[in-house]
Amino acid sequence: MREQITLECTECKRRNYTTMKEKRNTPDRIEKSKYCKFDRKHTIHRETR
Ligand SMILES: [Zn+2]
Repeated sequence: MREQITLECTECKRRNYTTMKEKRNTPDRIEKSKYCKFDRKHTIHRETR
């Protein structure tokens, strides 16, 4: 049940990260604060597909 997902920066809309998630545990879209090198700061990155 592990799935690879893409994380998109909510500010510049670039897809900077991929990660794995357990779909059974987290059915909702996940959001993570990660460093965006384009914005040069930490921004919220949201799951996309
Ligand atoms: Zn960004």
